[in-house]
Amino acid sequence: MKLTRRIQSIKPSPTLELSAKVGALKAEGKDIIGFAAGEPDFDTPDNIKEAAVIALRQGKTIYTAVSGIPELKDAITAKLKRDNGVSYKREEIIVSCGAKHSLYNIAMTILEEGDDVIIPAPYWVSYIDIVCLTGATPVIVETTKESGFRLSPEQFAAAITPRTRAIFLNYPNNPTGATYTREQLQELARIAVKNEIMIISDEVYEKIIYTPEPHVSIASLGEDVKDFTITVNSLSKTYSMTGWRIGYAAANKKLVSAMTNIQSQSTSNPTSIAQYASVEALNGPQDTIESRRLEFEKRKDYILKRIETIPGVTCDNPDGTFYIFADFSAHYDKKHNGLNIDNSVKMAGFLLEEGNVALVPGIAFGNDSCLRLTFASSIETIKEGLDRINNTLKRLE
Ligand code: PMP
Ligand code: GLU
Repeated sequence: MKLTRRIQSIKPSPTLELSAKVGALKAEGKDIIGFAAGEPDFDTPDNIKEAAVIALRQGKTIYTAVSGIPELKDAITAKLKRDNGVSYKREEIIVSCGAKHSLYNIAMTILEEGDDVIIPAPYWVSYIDIVCLTGATPVIVETTKESGFRLSPEQFAAAITPRTRAIFLNYPNNPTGATYTREQLQELARIAVKNEIMIISDEVYEKIIYTPEPHVSIASLGEDVKDFTITVNSLSKTYSMTGWRIGYAAANKKLVSAMTNIQSQSTSNPTSIAQYASVEALNGPQDTIESRRLEFEKRKDYILKRIETIPGVTCDNPDGTFYIFADFSAHYDKKHNGLNIDNSVKMAGFLLEEGNVALVPGIAFGNDSCLRLTFASSIETIKEGLDRINNTLKRLE
């Protein structure tokens, strides 16, 4: 059977694929420590679950408006005003099946063959494939460890071509954890506005942050910046709701209406019950966000302290997220059973097969020196996983 050229360029999400592999190995009875999954290990708070049960009992089980129920859009506009200092109207919001779906809708709306899209590396795994699906060209700009994996204004300006249509910004960043200060964002925004480049601002980790400065939404930097920004967010990480599949985009009415057309011809509305639960998530008590953030911070501090003691593995202190992007390249000149372990895929394969510990190869995020570890698991699990990494690396010669 003939598959389209479009689909032949698309790979499965490496993070989801690896998480599935870990699940399958565990189901076979293998004792694997998974550092691969990109989701909180906490359960969805009870008040949110209860709201879903009530919606279910009330028969809120039929199609909703394609772009989301008005109550949820109002909860989102109130949240964007309250937390991010940006005013959006109801018709400037579209609720989708997760931020990933929002990003797909955005790409389908604003990108096509011949367009260039700037993607700073390390990047989240799906950006490249989502851009490729539209026929546009990803222009990868490598950020350096020295800059804390932040895109500099000079790098941004130098990557612009007459065809540049958009830039993906993701902060706090998956996988590096790096975020941007207000001043850094101002500089990037100035360049985007001057060159009429759309900023796709993926802020799904905004609440999992360890810096003293609060998260700054780039759209809040001025009306001109807001005009060129599509703010993307999700309920997945903030409320431990990855399986509910609710995310959203906020942008001008023309864009939102075009995205709604795509959604109306593809998925229709996101699940009705999940939308009602999300209203409660955004309008109800917010205390679990801070208690869970504190728990993540404890785990982060623990993992950093332990990684320092593993020879040849280094990492920076992430500003946010529940990921550590650790550099293993000091071990890349070594061998195991005659096989050179000289890249992140081989290193991840070696650690999984020999050490029963699963990490995501950095190359999936555009950096082959590093591997990603998720610390969304208990301190005991993290401890055991790091012990395994340390012991397994000792087998390299
Ligand atoms: N953006 C980033 C940076 C992510 O890590 C993820 C994965 N959770 C998403 C978007 C998509 O999130 P979701 O579709 O679950 O809302
Ligand atoms: N965003 C998460 C991760 O990076 C979830 C997996 C995915 O959606 O690809 O692991």
